[in-house]
Amino acid sequence: MNIEIATAPDVRDVDVPKDAWTQPFWDAAERGELLLPRCVNCGHFRWPPGPFCPRCRSQTVAWTAPGAGQIYSFTILREKKDDGSVQVIVPALIAFPGADGVRLIASIAATPIDHINIGASVELSWSPAKNASIPIFRVT
Ligand SMILES: [Zn+2]
Repeated sequence: MNIEIATAPDVRDVDVPKDAWTQPFWDAAERGELLLPRCVNCGHFRWPPGPFCPRCRSQTVAWTAPGAGQIYSFTILREKKDDGSVQVIVPALIAFPGADGVRLIASIAATPIDHINIGASVELSWSPAKNASIPIFRVT
C-alpha cells in the first residue's frame, strides 16, 4: 500500500504582494523567523496585519514570535499531474496557543497523510517564492 505524503505546492513563481503592514513579516521570514504583529497597548496578536488593533485601536505594534503551532483545521487536495502522478496538497489553518486567535493559512508538507490531525503539533519550515519565503509546516 502506498503511503501518501503531503507536499508543499510549488510557489517558486509566486510574486507575494507586500505592503507597509506586512513587510516586517516578510523581512523576518527572510531571516527564517516567524514573527506576528502584537499590540503593544493591549497584547492582542493582530492577525492579519493592519494599521489598527481590532481590540483597542492602538497603532503601536511589536513583531513577536508566537511560539509553537498546531493544526487548527485542514483539508486534503489531490492533484493529478500530467505524468499521471498525484500530488497531495494539504492547506491548513495553524493556531498558536501562545497567540490567541491567530489562524495562519499554510501548507502541511513532508508528512504522511495519516499523521495529519486537528491539534497535531507542527514545526516551521520555509518554501521559497519569487520574492519571499513562505511558511510551511510539518507534523512533529
Ligand atoms: Zn490593542
